[in-house]
Amino acid sequence: MKLVFFFGGGLADGNASMKSELGGKGANLAEMTLLKLPVPAGFTISTKVCLDYLHDNASFSPELKEQVLEALKKTEKIMEAKFADIENPLLVSVRSGARVSMPGMMDTVLNLGLNTVTVEALAKKTQNPKFAYDSYRRFIQMYSNVVKELETHHMEDALENYKNQRGLNEDTELSAEDLIEICNIFRQIYVKHFHEPFPEDPSEQLWSSIAAVFKSWNCARAKKYREIHSIPNDWGTAVNICSMVYGNMGDQSGTGVCFTRDPSTGENIFYGEYLLNAQGEDVVAGIRTPKNLNLLEKEMPHVYEQLLEVRDKLENHYRDVQDIEFTIQQGKLYLLQTRNAKRTTQAALKIAIDLANEGKISRQEALLKVNPQDLDKLLHPTLDPRAHKQVIAKGLPASPGAVSGRAVFSAVEAESWAARGEQVILVRDETSPEDIGGMYASQGFLTARGGMTSHAAVVARQMGKCCVAGCSSLSISQIHKSVRVAGIEIMEGDWMTLDGSTGEVMLGKVETKNAELSSDFVTFMAWAKEYRTMRVRANADTPRDAAFARNFGAEGIGLCRTEHMFFDENRLPFVRQMILAKNIQERKEALEKLRPFQRDDFVAILSAMENLPVTIRLLDPPLHEFLPHTDKDMMTLSNQLGLSADDIKQRVKSLHEANPMLGHRGCRLGISHPEIYEMQVKAIVEAVEICKNQGKKVLPEIMIPLVGIQQELEWLRNRLQKIAPHFPFGTMIEVPRAALIADKIAIQADFFSFGTNDLTQTTYGFSRDDSAPFLRVYKQEGILVEDPFASLDQEGVGRLVELACELGRKQKPEIKLGICGEHGGEPSSVKFCHKIGLNYVSCSPFRIPIAMLAAAQASISQNFG
Ligand code: PEP
Ligand code: MG
Repeated sequence: MKLVFFFGGGLADGNASMKSELGGKGANLAEMTLLKLPVPAGFTISTKVCLDYLHDNASFSPELKEQVLEALKKTEKIMEAKFADIENPLLVSVRSGARVSMPGMMDTVLNLGLNTVTVEALAKKTQNPKFAYDSYRRFIQMYSNVVKELETHHMEDALENYKNQRGLNEDTELSAEDLIEICNIFRQIYVKHFHEPFPEDPSEQLWSSIAAVFKSWNCARAKKYREIHSIPNDWGTAVNICSMVYGNMGDQSGTGVCFTRDPSTGENIFYGEYLLNAQGEDVVAGIRTPKNLNLLEKEMPHVYEQLLEVRDKLENHYRDVQDIEFTIQQGKLYLLQTRNAKRTTQAALKIAIDLANEGKISRQEALLKVNPQDLDKLLHPTLDPRAHKQVIAKGLPASPGAVSGRAVFSAVEAESWAARGEQVILVRDETSPEDIGGMYASQGFLTARGGMTSHAAVVARQMGKCCVAGCSSLSISQIHKSVRVAGIEIMEGDWMTLDGSTGEVMLGKVETKNAELSSDFVTFMAWAKEYRTMRVRANADTPRDAAFARNFGAEGIGLCRTEHMFFDENRLPFVRQMILAKNIQERKEALEKLRPFQRDDFVAILSAMENLPVTIRLLDPPLHEFLPHTDKDMMTLSNQLGLSADDIKQRVKSLHEANPMLGHRGCRLGISHPEIYEMQVKAIVEAVEICKNQGKKVLPEIMIPLVGIQQELEWLRNRLQKIAPHFPFGTMIEVPRAALIADKIAIQADFFSFGTNDLTQTTYGFSRDDSAPFLRVYKQEGILVEDPFASLDQEGVGRLVELACELGRKQKPEIKLGICGEHGGEPSSVKFCHKIGLNYVSCSPFRIPIAMLAAAQASISQNFG
């Protein structure tokens, strides 16, 4: 079996389509090699080997060893150097690379192959001992950290001490002699910690680094990242072993990252950053603040020219904006990586629209380029222009949005403050992948160092959080938990505000306002609407939500939960009176008082959705939710209703249910107290009459919740139809039994709406309200990849939905089918709904654009095959 894939000299075993085996980096290195771009030769060990290694006692097969040796030989031939050779040594990098990029989450070792002999050979060959020993000290540092898990501060502190003693500020000021000395110091630190010498044998270095990279798939931060981004644990990482090229060989060398278009705004400008005399990690880690790519045009016009060609070639080839890593070794350009660039959502829309308008891609492809979930981020707030603000510093506008929060100075603090319900801003010199949990818990990040491609900036854009980076006027003290800037000291817990679109840092809490949708957004959503076949409705219970949803493109209401209308303080006393009524007469009196309220609600909602269908669901949740629970509430109610407090207590007690979610709710309530549904249906009929008289065409559909027995629906429909003879009646399918006998239920139903919140609850037997703690553990342990309440479980719950559709259609081919559980606004669930042929999905108003785009993508993908 092929486990190792070579690339070099214009030939490659892999290509861009092999991301699951080779990881994104490996697949694209192969592809760039095939495109005859200057990629240093090397090879990729497949993700399969990682999975085997992690499962089978951490060992490597003879077959793998043989294939690695063979690929290494080919690499040596192309690079005209030999691994472990004492005169002309080949050095390699060992890099992780999963199927999707997980920036900084896993490990990398550079300059591998150096030892006390080869470092001398390298010094001689390059006539540059300073460079050779700089590479060696970097290797010792990285190897000790990645392979032996030595905390980085041991060697970093030693390096700082060394520089301080000699009055040096920058690493680049160190002479060759200094670096030789530092290598000795580092090796001694290694011996002190591990009681053995630093490994001299390049082969041992190689295999232990490969093992370490595989193991880093399961390190805490990578696991956390996968949990946040729902990446399966069983993908594994590939390992890329690539010949080293050096950006730290002097002033004609350097390293950088460039984007074929601006990833922040989407503008069609060549955008990037670089550092001279540096290796890749210096740029990414944000340790030195890099220069803007424009300067390279002056500093190295020839290289810049070449990069421009690469920009065109890669963007046209991949038909998307690329994020390219490059190294310049003594004036010669090498490419180390390309991938589809992470971008802000604003940029994603602009790029997709521009590429289509430039004729580079079709509109369908443009629609496929934006992750529906990301549209959420467009709804980020901005600073209210009228608000007073005290700007105390300015950094790089690394990721948009305006946020306020309390300052915290470590990821751990961020998590613990957030757990107490506080909004926090994480303030750091720079962030690192260990901080991922704290970053997720924060509103935004502020860093003193690092550029637009620093860790903080990349992570912020991806998470859709606000970030101001490289704000060098900050003087942060981790120990005192404070930051000094412009003569002001901000302590932990003090409020501050960031504007990630301008880079401004402000004191205190500045007012923000919600996003206004850009013309790109409007264009893009119009394209989405054109290509989707499934309809998108909204779950809305108020005229305000209905109008808002319609503005976003909603094509009706799929779920109007009438119980939400009853919590209003003017109505609650009557609702309580209705529930506590001792006899039917009393109940009817209370219901009569509620009817005008309901009628007015329906007039307003139906009017807001004029000409579009509105599914009104009759009362669903258990009655006890409406009852008073505290003594104070009971006293108030006793005064309102003229009943004794004891009476009320007694009645509340008698209505107590051990398991209300499976109790007296939905159609069960409608059957035991039919006058409730009768009042609601009367109110609907009256509302329609009023709308008609106002000349409006309104289209209500009456929906009965929680049906599981054919006769439940039959019983209710017979009764309610007498009040509303020509109205469509339908039911929710939200218990497994309803799905299993959907053909029988369909006899009485004009439509089904899948209530997948309850259907998930009842299929798994997981309580909707109580499962969060164990679901978190399930995700951590990889037992579930997704929370089934967020993303539809297609093989279980989805199977029931599919079955109900089949049975329903068999009974009644014209039956209308939709979904109104939370899944109706989650992209993968929406795609599933398209696949099984639902007529519509219904979701919360803010998620309409997400559902619309997901529906368009589902239809486009299906048509492309
Ligand atoms: C459902 O169960 O999926 C549903 C939409 O109803 P509710 O969330 O109101 O129970
Ligand atoms: Mg329900």
